[in-house]
Amino acid sequence: MDELALVARIRKRSRSRLLGDDCAVLSPKPGEDLLVTTDLFLEGTHFTKDTSASEAGRKCLARGLSDIAAMGGIPRWCFVSLALASKSPTRWLDDFYKGLTTLAKHHKVALAGGDLTRAKTTAADIIVLGAVPKGKALTRSGARRGDAIYVSGLLGRAAASDYKDIPEPRLALGRFLREKLHATACMDLSDGLSLDLHRLCLESKLAASIHRLLPISPGASLLDAVHGGEDYELLFTVAPDTKVPATHQGLHLTQIGTITTGRPGDLTFFGRPLKPAGWDPFRSTRAR
Ligand SMILES: [Mg+2]
Repeated sequence: MDELALVARIRKRSRSRLLGDDCAVLSPKPGEDLLVTTDLFLEGTHFTKDTSASEAGRKCLARGLSDIAAMGGIPRWCFVSLALASKSPTRWLDDFYKGLTTLAKHHKVALAGGDLTRAKTTAADIIVLGAVPKGKALTRSGARRGDAIYVSGLLGRAAASDYKDIPEPRLALGRFLREKLHATACMDLSDGLSLDLHRLCLESKLAASIHRLLPISPGASLLDAVHGGEDYELLFTVAPDTKVPATHQGLHLTQIGTITTGRPGDLTFFGRPLKPAGWDPFRSTRAR
């Protein structure tokens, strides 16, 4: 099968009306800011040869959607560029796009373009575009002293599953945090609580104290919960007098600590200094 035929299959599967020209023509609505996130998804780093193509497709999009959720946004379009190593590219592509488009349809995201080529190892680059009312995007830099720090769901779930878990992007929660709780800062937990909270504190130029029990996933250790990545839950801060419900659409929201003054980025865990030690591709070679 040649490239044209493969692209035709992708168009048919995605039922996207945006494919076919040299560029996608997108029309953001007036009064909105556009959110754009890009992620590399590499065999040997983000998935292994054992990952099914359909899981790879779903996970690839889920990571991008999680970034949109972290900003309180609504996802609209995605672009997927693929370098394929598979010996049976037609089947691999069918399954990859099956995984991807099932999740895309669920969240009303249109496949707006991409590229396709062959390579020695499989790699995907995904771009997701979303929207948020002008000036209302949640950021990492808005936390204030005394704000309560919360996480959604359970921590360490991905680490306990050897990173085979496919994350569920917390889009409804991100929107709720922006519209109803007026979260002061937010990000998704992609690289582990310790490293991600450190990053949020650096951007907000403040420190953080974790002084409450963490919601640890069954089967996960405390280390998995503190340092394990890829949970794709939301980490957020709210003003201290904010009434945060115990759950949102069945998802637990748990206060784990408080934003404090101190050297920017410094963390304490029950009074002791906590070093950020989550996933950093420049420090670790472990395939995830
Ligand atoms: Mg992120």
